[in-house]
Amino acid sequence: MTAETMATETGRDFIRDIVQADLDAGKYREIVTRFPPEPNGYLHIGHAKSIALNFGIAQEFAGRCHLRFDDTNPTKEEQEYIDSIQADVRWLGYDWGTNLYYASDYFERLYDWAEGLIRAGHAYVDDQSQEEIRVKRGTLTEPGRNSPFRDRSVEENLDLFRRMKAGEFPNGARVLRAKIDMASGNINLRDPVLYRILHAHHPRTGDAWSIYPSYDYAHGQSDAIEGITHSICTLEFEDHRPLYEWLLDKLPVPSKPRQYEMARLNLTYTLLSKRVLTELVRGGHVAGWDDPRMPTIAGLKRRGVPPAAIREFIKRIGVAKANSVVDVGMLEFCIREELNKSSLRRMAVLRPLKVVIENYPEGQSEELDAINHPDDPEAGTRKIVFGRELYIERDDFMENPPKKFFRLSPGTEVRLRYAYFIKCTGMIKDAAGEVVELRCTYDPATKGGNAPDGRKVKATMHWLSAAQSQPAEIRIYNPLFAKPNPDAGNFVADLNPQSLEVLTDARIEPAISANNSSDVMQFERQGYFVRDPDSAPDRPVFTRTIGLRDTFTKEVGGKT
Ligand code: ATP
Ligand code: MG
Repeated sequence: MTAETMATETGRDFIRDIVQADLDAGKYREIVTRFPPEPNGYLHIGHAKSIALNFGIAQEFAGRCHLRFDDTNPTKEEQEYIDSIQADVRWLGYDWGTNLYYASDYFERLYDWAEGLIRAGHAYVDDQSQEEIRVKRGTLTEPGRNSPFRDRSVEENLDLFRRMKAGEFPNGARVLRAKIDMASGNINLRDPVLYRILHAHHPRTGDAWSIYPSYDYAHGQSDAIEGITHSICTLEFEDHRPLYEWLLDKLPVPSKPRQYEMARLNLTYTLLSKRVLTELVRGGHVAGWDDPRMPTIAGLKRRGVPPAAIREFIKRIGVAKANSVVDVGMLEFCIREELNKSSLRRMAVLRPLKVVIENYPEGQSEELDAINHPDDPEAGTRKIVFGRELYIERDDFMENPPKKFFRLSPGTEVRLRYAYFIKCTGMIKDAAGEVVELRCTYDPATKGGNAPDGRKVKATMHWLSAAQSQPAEIRIYNPLFAKPNPDAGNFVADLNPQSLEVLTDARIEPAISANNSSDVMQFERQGYFVRDPDSAPDRPVFTRTIGLRDTFTKEVGGKT
């Protein structure tokens, strides 16, 4: 067992240890964290890690966690994303109370502070193009070169910066840069850009601004304004920390937050990049941000994944300082664990094959009791109807079975769950030679599923009454990507062509069609399913949340 997994078992991790030590040392009166999404897309399960950590720490240490929109790039940000982010954080089970903020609330103050930097000789207006700035920034092995505009007078800088603000110059004409060190070993300190000109309408500030602060400039100062104590971000920002601290040091900020970095969550068969997710939606590769194949919170929700399963998953993976890729099987495990506890059992036949019980009287039927949850007697029982015409799963029958196939085949006997033993006595085939109907007999003495003479059968199968069951569409989702490590640069090539299988003539029992809620049900022997919003009154649609544990390893004819 690694140190990291041990840490999660005690519910502790290096960040919580730091928080505890800071509290013990009396450094803070209250712990304040924040979750700072940029509203340029929907949240995904990687964000859930950050949400659970920030809100979790606030809960555990009696502090508070702010939800702050990092809305500094109006060309990519939309109200739809602001709304979805709030809905998703709440759905995950977290609450920011009254602490909802926007970086744009601080635009005025950030601007004033930028003028202060200019006056102190710590910032200058650069007229070079974006490209020139990039080229002259140097590389890891080569120092950068000073801009010819680096030594402008304070007066000239102030004048130009004010005119940038007033909207006098076109996009890209000038930027405001911090004056730090073009030879620094840390490229982030080579005179980073603080403001750029952008004539764009902002969802909150409208057309008030023609310049917008960079992430690095806005983020730390927003933290300081809100009194954030522990500013937790992902590892890519480790190299930005010296800049974060430089700015806090040079500006008259009301508090000094500290930045800590943790590993991003990466998952096999999954890409957690907003750019990729946006392109999947825009390119029509999925049906939308809430497509059940998407790793978005909205997609997981639509798929029927309970928020408790996501929280448990995040708890189990822990918080580490080194990047790694988590097996998506771990998430699936947490989903099954949760759904196994919470889902009522039902019967559905995904690919029906008709069965006629020849010795069962025509026009007759009977009600049998079916258990709603094997581990929860309080969930009770329901009635299911048995009759002469039934449906079984097409896969549960084989005309010429291999040795280990124990389900129905000519001459064999199996148990129909909660009902009787049946034996296959004949088949009806269509012109193409495909079996379209089975003829069986039942043994009336085996009512309830046991034979008085003690004889055994090797399989128990689910089934439905042909008359009582109803039609439904069932959508089986498989991983969106066919490779464990899809290429973010060329993700279209790695898409799984079999990520969605639609079964249009499935049958469901009345207790399923009666369930209009988004409660997940276990369809016995098939997996967990949830009603999809695409359902029509006469045609319900069910989405498979996840298969049962064994579907992968279960050999053909495995005992049930
Ligand atoms: P980008 O910045 O490229 O748009 P992002 O995923 O970083 O994408 P943000 O909205 O900035 O999006 O993320 C909000 C918070 O969630 C940040 O603190 C970020 O570090 C964190 N976060 C994002 N992705 C992950 C991930 N895969 N694992 C853990 N935390 C993440
Ligand atoms: Mg980000």
